[in-house]
Amino acid sequence: MEHFFYKENNLVAEGVPIATVAEQYGTPCFIYSRAALEEGYGAYREAFDDHSHLICYAVKANSNIAVLNVLAKLGAGFDIVSGGELARVVAAGGDPKKVTFSGLGKTTDEICMGLDADIHCFNVESEAELQRISDIAVGESKIAPVSIRVNPDVNAETHPYISTGLKENKFGISMEPAMQLYVKASKMRGIRITGIDFHIGSQLTNIKPILNALDRILTMNDQLVSKGITVDHVNIGGGLGVTYGDEKPPTPGELISTIKRKFSGIDLKIVIEPGRSIAANAGVLVTRVEYLKGHEGKNFAIVDGAMNDLIRPALYGAWQNIVPVKKTASIENLNYDVVGPICESADFLGKNRSLNIKPGDLLAVKSAGAYGFVMSSNYNSRLRAPELMISKSNIHLIREREVVPDLFRNEHLLPA
Ligand SMILES: *Cc1c(COP(=O)(O)O)cnc(C)c1O
Repeated sequence: MEHFFYKENNLVAEGVPIATVAEQYGTPCFIYSRAALEEGYGAYREAFDDHSHLICYAVKANSNIAVLNVLAKLGAGFDIVSGGELARVVAAGGDPKKVTFSGLGKTTDEICMGLDADIHCFNVESEAELQRISDIAVGESKIAPVSIRVNPDVNAETHPYISTGLKENKFGISMEPAMQLYVKASKMRGIRITGIDFHIGSQLTNIKPILNALDRILTMNDQLVSKGITVDHVNIGGGLGVTYGDEKPPTPGELISTIKRKFSGIDLKIVIEPGRSIAANAGVLVTRVEYLKGHEGKNFAIVDGAMNDLIRPALYGAWQNIVPVKKTASIENLNYDVVGPICESADFLGKNRSLNIKPGDLLAVKSAGAYGFVMSSNYNSRLRAPELMISKSNIHLIREREVVPDLFRNEHLLPA
């Protein structure tokens, strides 16, 4: 169900007018729908049904503690990539025993945090990391649960910056060396092998590459069993795409039912790490038109949101729908580049958008619930935007807009 929709020409979130939220909290601002988040998680939960599983929401997609708390209350696990994310999960009431720790550069401190929190599994990306985890665990008289992230060398058919499962990517370990590493790991004192893991990329709109990767991983599992090495789970990563424009990705239900078929007769828990497919369409970025200007046959809508708030268009050339918060029929549509005030030509939210707007109007950039606020910065000394969560008829401020002292709170002048 769509939780951002028009009611008498006014865009609403769960029935709450976006314009009302913008009046109260100013622009730019991120607005999330609790119902949309719950539905995003629920789609996976229902699809797994009674097959043994763990859904670890990828915290990096949207790490606000209120977002994590909504998911934790539904029983979600979490996939983290840093000690900071582990701290967020704990602060949000998440269960560390349902945490998978991904990422290829875990520091000693981060490994200690994970061990102390008794997390579900470390997803290991190199021999050196495995050795470090084992040494730390032995030092603490603990045994670290690990899976090895295998790089299955499949083309995920997505943007190169978010493709992670090819030989030339920095992620994971190729199949042959991974086999050898499993054998080594099975003899390490601080290590308990619990899984196999892969994650081939993000915004995947085709199920095939995931299935190809899974086939390879299941073959590898057979080889491990023949060597006497058994795991209790296979982690298929995240990466399911969403509809920003005209993409038609499979639904979580379609993905999971296909995956489950591959596991028929195989008694292994399925772990999955979805981020974008839970959060992206649960949020919008609301921005106000400051000025309209035209030159050289182009029209620019200069808005108060910018690449520091939402960097996906600038970073990946990503397309996100931009819609008016109030639909009007009076003036004619023009084609606009919707741009921010930052001193970079890459500072745009959308190009060549047919809009019917005047200064002061509000626009909503759709699908901004994932990789939106989390990638924001203070570039150009801009204050980071607030985050609001709509829950039925309530508006909750879940992160305040920054204030000017925040900008240089941690800076120091040289001594006089
Ligand atoms: C980013 C990431 C995810 C989540 O990816 P989405 O495309 O947001 O679902 C899951 N697992 C790992 C290891 C990741 O790096």
